[in-house]
Amino acid sequence: MQRLIILAAALALPLGLQGSEATPHWDYEGPEGPQHWGELAQEFDMCSRGRNQSPIDLVGQVDTDLPEIRFDYRQPFEVNEVNTGHAIQEDVIPGNYVSWLDQRFELRQFHFHSPSEHTVGGRLYDMEVHLVHQNESGEYLVVGLVFEKGEHNEMMDQLPSFRAERGEDPAGSNFDYNEFVAQRQHYFYYNGSLTTPPCTEGVRWLVMQEPITASQQQIQHYHDLLGFDNNRPIQPRNARVVLE
Ligand SMILES: [Zn+2]
Repeated sequence: MQRLIILAAALALPLGLQGSEATPHWDYEGPEGPQHWGELAQEFDMCSRGRNQSPIDLVGQVDTDLPEIRFDYRQPFEVNEVNTGHAIQEDVIPGNYVSWLDQRFELRQFHFHSPSEHTVGGRLYDMEVHLVHQNESGEYLVVGLVFEKGEHNEMMDQLPSFRAERGEDPAGSNFDYNEFVAQRQHYFYYNGSLTTPPCTEGVRWLVMQEPITASQQQIQHYHDLLGFDNNRPIQPRNARVVLE
């Protein structure tokens, strides 16, 4: 019996170590909610200490000629949908890029927040998608699009959970995402952070000014898949400037 206990303890040790090395648990409400993220782990420190955090309220302050965003997303655009416990996320196969200011950033994944995280002129939207890109040095560029309730959205209809619901192959979409995003060139630009722990700063945020529409049913579908609101509250802008 005693040997068994010792064996159990010996086996438990590496597991325990693994646990402490994994990303600490965090949440969107309660004692592990956004107000406490910075206290949950040393590596989440920026969530409370950072001065360039996201999301923020977007109001254009400086009217400039912002550079064109060139989308080069491959066809077919294959995605694999996962529930991370914090968002419904679409992992994409490698080979999709955007070019911005002569730099190439590769699309890693995109995911949804509902309601929106950024507000525009104080207005909260029904949903927001974040297209997360990284360059070779690992620097982030995130394209954000806010949604309002309205017309049915064709792009969303091609995402795996919608296709599965209709009895279609979840992975088989032929939707041209370039067409969907390339016509949108009016955007806000500011320097911010990841909106989830570890709240890493130095993220280039490009948030499209014009909202896109999705039906009430489509927006509800994503909210129900996750089961709760997953928007971090608005953060102070501090010394930053929002370009448009
Ligand atoms: Zn996000």
